[in-house]
Amino acid sequence: PSASGDSYLARLNPEQRAAIETTDGPLLVLAGAGTGKTRVLTTRFAHILLTGRAKPWQILTVTFTNKAAREMRERIGLLLGSPAEGLWLGTFHALCARMLRRHAEYVGLTQSFTILDTDDQLRLLKQVMAPWQIDIKRWPAPGLLGVIQRWKDRGLTPERITPTEDSDFANGHARAIYTAYQARLKQLNACDFGDLMLHVTEILRTRPDVLAQYHRLFRYILVDEYQDTNTIQYLWLRLLAKHAEGPANICCVGDDDQSIYSWRGAEVENILRFEKDFPSAKVVRLERNYRSTRHILGAAAGLIAHNSERLGKTLRPGREDAEGKKVSVTGVWDSDTEARMVCEHAEKLRGQGHALNEMAILVRAGFQTRAFEERLMQMGLPYRIVGGLRFYERAEIRDALAYMRVLSQPVDDLAFERIINVPKRGVGPAGLQKLHAAARANNLPLTGGTEKLLEDNALKGKSAAHLRQLMEAFASTRDILAREGHVVAVEHLLEESGYLDMWRQDRSPDAPGRLENLKELTRALADFGTLGEFLEHVALVMDHDENGQDDYLSIMTLHGAKGLEFDTVFLPGWEEGVFPSQRTLDEGGLKGLEEERRLAYVGITRARQEAIIFHAGRRRIYANWQPSMPSRFLDELPDEHVLRHDEGSTFQRQGLNLSESVFDNGPLIARRRKDPMLEAAPALQLGDHVRHPRFGEGIVISADRHHVEVSFDSVGTKRLLSSFIEKI
Ligand code: ATP
Ligand code: MG
Repeated sequence: PSASGDSYLARLNPEQRAAIETTDGPLLVLAGAGTGKTRVLTTRFAHILLTGRAKPWQILTVTFTNKAAREMRERIGLLLGSPAEGLWLGTFHALCARMLRRHAEYVGLTQSFTILDTDDQLRLLKQVMAPWQIDIKRWPAPGLLGVIQRWKDRGLTPERITPTEDSDFANGHARAIYTAYQARLKQLNACDFGDLMLHVTEILRTRPDVLAQYHRLFRYILVDEYQDTNTIQYLWLRLLAKHAEGPANICCVGDDDQSIYSWRGAEVENILRFEKDFPSAKVVRLERNYRSTRHILGAAAGLIAHNSERLGKTLRPGREDAEGKKVSVTGVWDSDTEARMVCEHAEKLRGQGHALNEMAILVRAGFQTRAFEERLMQMGLPYRIVGGLRFYERAEIRDALAYMRVLSQPVDDLAFERIINVPKRGVGPAGLQKLHAAARANNLPLTGGTEKLLEDNALKGKSAAHLRQLMEAFASTRDILAREGHVVAVEHLLEESGYLDMWRQDRSPDAPGRLENLKELTRALADFGTLGEFLEHVALVMDHDENGQDDYLSIMTLHGAKGLEFDTVFLPGWEEGVFPSQRTLDEGGLKGLEEERRLAYVGITRARQEAIIFHAGRRRIYANWQPSMPSRFLDELPDEHVLRHDEGSTFQRQGLNLSESVFDNGPLIARRRKDPMLEAAPALQLGDHVRHPRFGEGIVISADRHHVEVSFDSVGTKRLLSSFIEKI
């Protein structure tokens, strides 16, 4: 029976309705950003239930992130008027974990198998590799783990790997090591993340009885963000969807222009394969975008038109209201000005009655968040880092801070314990106990105890050499600290201690981002006169939590923003080397550049009302200011949809030729730069009446250059950054 009279369908356009009412047989919805693909999937789910075609647990729904799964669950609950239980709704990995628990014995595991995290995987792989005596300088374990993961992404169990595939890696031993690694996992009753998909797919391939069970169970399959599936995910879907007695009811929605995960093995070609694998497939195209204003759409369309590899789609404005504001592109003097302008704009919008929840700052790389975080904290605007940690909470930053704390205060045992075995120096629990005992016996801190044992030659084996090297690194750093200042000293310490090398050798996809974060940390360090001042600043900033706030500004990466929408989207850092990223430029390929452009398209199309792009004329890398060029993507935005402002970047670029002194291209030398915001803050004196965005009013009881102690009416005495405080 047609349900087109029903209210939930009445709110859709005819193409969307067709996509929902074509319930039987394979269906591909191929459509641009904001055309309602996700809405179609959600409504389709409700439609299937409301027309009695299936029970909630008979529909398999795949989303790209856990957040998307939660949102879809909520939306379905709203459409149905009650929360839906027992759903097979989640990410590929979550769904596979659930299936694997049911059939673990088929791959030699028990139902209670453990899922290893990256650290465990690496430790295990190293043990397994040992007998081969691989040159680990050339073939570090994380690199090999990456190779194995990519094989798993492609559905390749050890038996399926051909000799040609193998020859490149670890002198041709990669396959043998992979085989041993898998065997060892089995002995441990464990699997890694990639195994979740690999094992389940293998079970579905080899156990017709299990496959038939799922064919009976899942009457409908729904897949969001289909353009970003990788090979193993595709194989899994095809197994579940290809019934012997006829094509399944599978509906995939996707947009080739938003394929941004090829670095994780995603293959946009899966879209094309769909019609081959399911010859009876219907294809529905949606063309009306209901999310964004006409100018936002025009800008996004003009940009993506520069890609050559496209299936080609039309995108028309679907909203009645909306010409809207032009996309704004602002060039600013430097990255600090950029952070200030973005945050002040957000504050202004908030003052005009816009919720912070309706705004987002979308960055290309994790290191970019720091400048915004600090500015927002100064202003007292609540924010959240979505899909990631706040800058100073990230593991590599905490490690580096621990190194700095030991440098600044050798008695900081907690900090020393954190880094004593990072990178690995062969110090186990027993070794650590020995160091503690020596420290106690001699009434010394842990660093002192360690030095004592080294002097007495009381430490044996590898760990002795490693610890000697570590203590020497601290000693040489102290010399440098006295001579060349804290920025150079910290760089030296992270280098000599082997900490940076640890990440350089790490081949996991997040390692380059961690190195960028560490660079950004030294950049932040240069804002302070001494190491002590910096560490104090960090301690204060870390204490600043926004718990309990439910209106907050979101900061996230462009990758993490997929599928989401906001009224206002800030897009900072549109510069060559940031966006497109330096890695993409170094590799020099067209494919990489086109993927970056798709990422830019994703970014712009997140905005409902306003997309605000920034580029800075210079950005600090380590302690140096470096000139940066506007992103090529800016030239590709059609003029009729864009309003360009210049707040100094052009002037500055001309200035480059005139005054070399603006730029410091010499060796890494710390330059102290005055923060305009800090400068602008009024000098506070004893007895001043002040206001803080969170603690309210109080009286200054002591003050130095950066910090004040204030006795607040509400919370008593607090020590704070003076820039957080307003004089009244
Ligand atoms: P993306 O490619 O970014 O994932 P999408 O195609 O999944 O986008 P949705 O997120 O489903 O698009 O929809 C975009 C916005 O348009 C949502 O706010 C949605 O509620 C709204 N929308 C979708 N269809 C309609 C419609 N027929 N009438 C009014 N609004 C609609
Ligand atoms: Mg979507």
